[in-house]
Amino acid sequence: MQADEFGLSGEQLLLRETAARLARDVYAPQALEWDRDRSFLPAAERQRLAETGFLGMCLPAEYGGGGAPLLDGLIVIEELAKASQVAAFPVFEANTGPARVIELFGSPQQKQRFLPPIVRGEVTLAVSISEPEAGSAATDLTLTARRDAAEFVITGTKRWCSGAGHAEQYLVYARIDGEPGSRGIGALVVPADAAGLTFGPQERLMGFHGIASADMYFDEVRVPADNLIVQGFKQLFTAFSIERLGNTTMSLAIGQACLDRTAAYVQQRTQFGRPIVEFQSVQMALADMVLQVEAARLLLYRAASGAGHGAPTSLEASIAKCFANEMAKKVSDTAMGLHGGYGYSEEYGLERYHRDAHGWALGGGTPSIQRVRIVSEYLGRSFSQRAPARQRPA
Ligand SMILES: Cc1cc2nc3c(=O)[nH]c(=O)nc-3n(C[C@H](O)[C@H](O)[C@H](O)COP(=O)(O)OP(=O)(O)OC[C@H]3O[C@@H](n4cnc5c(N)ncnc54)[C@H](O)[C@@H]3O)c2cc1C
Repeated sequence: MQADEFGLSGEQLLLRETAARLARDVYAPQALEWDRDRSFLPAAERQRLAETGFLGMCLPAEYGGGGAPLLDGLIVIEELAKASQVAAFPVFEANTGPARVIELFGSPQQKQRFLPPIVRGEVTLAVSISEPEAGSAATDLTLTARRDAAEFVITGTKRWCSGAGHAEQYLVYARIDGEPGSRGIGALVVPADAAGLTFGPQERLMGFHGIASADMYFDEVRVPADNLIVQGFKQLFTAFSIERLGNTTMSLAIGQACLDRTAAYVQQRTQFGRPIVEFQSVQMALADMVLQVEAARLLLYRAASGAGHGAPTSLEASIAKCFANEMAKKVSDTAMGLHGGYGYSEEYGLERYHRDAHGWALGGGTPSIQRVRIVSEYLGRSFSQRAPARQRPA
């Protein structure tokens, strides 16, 4: 049960109910199997999400989307992710992921070319930023896009891209023409079948089962110059704040689902002849779960309300993501504990939430990196994380 409706409109409550029904009837019964078998979402289910209008709900109506504010998209993502993050993932990608970079910074022609197929569920666009030597230090990326007449020629390696090897298209962050620093970073759309692009074996991650991940090798991959959506890490980072709220929502869904299940379980499970909720230490643990989940929701809703149809502030996005990521790890851990041995069983699904919670805390920047951003934004100062240049011996 959620404690409050947070002033959601009638339409938003209806939207939540529609998403919750779909999640309950279609995705919840599949979730355990998809996790166990590491199955990708079946194409028919992606089509269903498109037909329901969920894939493009926050994208502009002129490109086939629903033109809804960010909060509406997050409401749907949460309901789907409470049942299965495999089902929620395409909705997360389309409404808070790389498609928003195209929406915010693409030309009208680029939007017309790339957005409608995403809304129709024909194409998934994944985001590829991280590299073997550039994780938290994303601006150290070295994959290069060299301009050659009417094309860019891309060379380098990417890692950890969620969707790699499965998505039809990638928004690839590259160093344009070798220009150093954050200003040299741009984002280009690369189709999965581009000549010279190959994928490594699928990663076997602790969680995120059913969401593809693999190394991506670019060997002189050529794309039209018009596939460059934007250059400049500052703009890309603005759009990434939207993705950080999508990530926050995935974490909130984990916390809320664990809380809902635990609240029911502790009232039903008896030991020593009493429901275990009557033990005070169980009450304290449950109260901590409620506190954590409610606080995460408030931080998310504040940031999303401020964003309207656009991007949240970087400070609010980092606060919400950092808190929700850590909340989901803690709350899922407590939920497992309060379920005793059943919490440790795959069948009960709580360990799945816990494994996924760790993944969301890594994707989109770790809590430590969010803390660096929080202090920087809060104080209005930037703190270089780079080692000072070494003095040469005289
Ligand atoms: C499930 C999952 C999904 C992902 N999805 C994507 C995706 O779709 N696209 C994509 O491009 N990438 C993706 N990533 C990559 C993710 O963004 C990186 O893993 C993350 O940014 C951390 O980088 P790293 O793994 O190289 O760790 P490192 O940067 O090497 O960090 C290691 C440790 O050092 C700490 N650290 C590093 N620098 C600092 C600092 N300045 N101050 C304090 N602590 C610091 C980190 O917090 C961390 O604890 C995904 C990762 C995972 C696990």
